[in-house]
Amino acid sequence: TLPPIQGNIRLENIVFEYEPNRPALKGISLEVQSGQSIALVGHTGSGKSTIINLLCRFYDPVEGRVMIDGHDIRDVTVQSLRSQIGIVLQDTFIFSGTIRDNIRFGRLDATDEEVELAAKAVHAHDFIINLPNGYDTEVQERGSMLSMGQRQLLSFARALLADPRILILDEATASIDTETELKIQEAMKTLLAGRTSFIIAHRLSTIRHADNIVVLDHGRIMETGNHDEL
Ligand code: ATP
Ligand code: MG
Repeated sequence: TLPPIQGNIRLENIVFEYEPNRPALKGISLEVQSGQSIALVGHTGSGKSTIINLLCRFYDPVEGRVMIDGHDIRDVTVQSLRSQIGIVLQDTFIFSGTIRDNIRFGRLDATDEEVELAAKAVHAHDFIINLPNGYDTEVQERGSMLSMGQRQLLSFARALLADPRILILDEATASIDTETELKIQEAMKTLLAGRTSFIIAHRLSTIRHADNIVVLDHGRIMETGNHDEL
């Protein structure tokens, strides 16, 4: 079992291929200190999602290892690893049920008050109370009645409530109006604070705020540094 984690992550010389002789990662080494955020950028197919896949142990590397707080993640249970990693995907997972249930998804024991606090912290509360039944509004699977921006905020509330040490965020590419964009930026700051985070970043504003930026190309790291350095 992986003990409660600090969130120091090291990828050591990772080589990985989904199919024989077609390496998706060709020797990736990087380190993220506890509480820091790293933005992964690069063209389509450069290996961003693959890094995330290995971190969550959806696959194991062919060479090299992923270390969290000094533990090779192959030596701990998948359950103890994944329970400490929060994932916010581009295409937010929304199931049919109430808004409240959707936020509570990763923390079934959370009280109504905790749900609302989380929603407030990420600026989701305002749109929720304007829905026909507020937090008790039933949403359809995939959240079709919600805008892209609202779905993002909902997924942020869910992630905040779950309070993982490591957060993975695959930023949505969809265009969002300026007002929502600002809310999302602020919400992201709240969500990332104090957590080790990997962001597959599409927005310049997000990239600018990351502690470290890793530029990938065809499975290799081309550059790293913060926004001022690159
Ligand atoms: P995008 O910006 O399009 O999401 P990405 O940087 O996340 O791209 P990856 O998904 O990590 O890229 O893909 C890296 C390489 O691995 C690509 O060549 C891709 O075709 C290949 N690949 C990704 N997933 C699989 C899979 N499940 N099976 C086989 N090959 C895959
Ligand atoms: Mg991807």
